[in-house]
Amino acid sequence: MAPQTERVSEFYSPDLEVLIDEATLKRRIAELGAEITRDYAGTTPHLVCVLKGAVVFLAELIRHIDLPVTLDFIAVSSYGNATRTSGEVRIVKDLDESLAGRDVLLVEDILDTGLTLNYLMNNFLSRGVKSLRIVTLLNKPSRRLVEVPIAYKGFDIPDAFVVGFGLDYAQRYRNLPFIAVLKNISVVDPPAR
Ligand code: 5GP
Repeated sequence: MAPQTERVSEFYSPDLEVLIDEATLKRRIAELGAEITRDYAGTTPHLVCVLKGAVVFLAELIRHIDLPVTLDFIAVSSYGNATRTSGEVRIVKDLDESLAGRDVLLVEDILDTGLTLNYLMNNFLSRGVKSLRIVTLLNKPSRRLVEVPIAYKGFDIPDAFVVGFGLDYAQRYRNLPFIAVLKNISVVDPPAR
């Protein structure tokens, strides 16, 4: 038999403190899906996912929306590899399809200062949407710099840097099935991955 190498778990690290466990996340996301199903009855909501952080939330959410849905993806850069916002928003990958005449649901992982969603909302409104609403898994109300209307929200969380369920730190931890506070991080010099 091959010798066993010690397995280092990504899921159980002393630097991670679970904030929202998997069962709680899934329960709340199912509720959001049911709300969206009710509110959008008779329509085909067009879900636009903000890459990369919101993909895990999107994947869970759409399985609870009992309607025909269409999907598109947009990537913006606002943080780079650091944990502080630069205040700058830039579209890195634009949508594949037109938003004209569509009932758009903008799917985001976390609303922090609000700069990203404020930019995206204005950008999408200028593309002739029929309607536009925001659904965010997490919200950090204490950090807001720009008010953004949230139609659907998973959880309010305190001002801490969180990872997991799609959210990363220097591209790491997106695969955690829960949301955790990342302790002992270096804001200035994150580890290269
Ligand atoms: P905002 O423009 O609202 O300040 O920031 C939104 C974006 O900042 C999110 O989409 C996410 O990429 C990033 N962000 C804000 N807070 C956190 C956090 O606690 N953890 C992680 N991983 N990203 C965050």
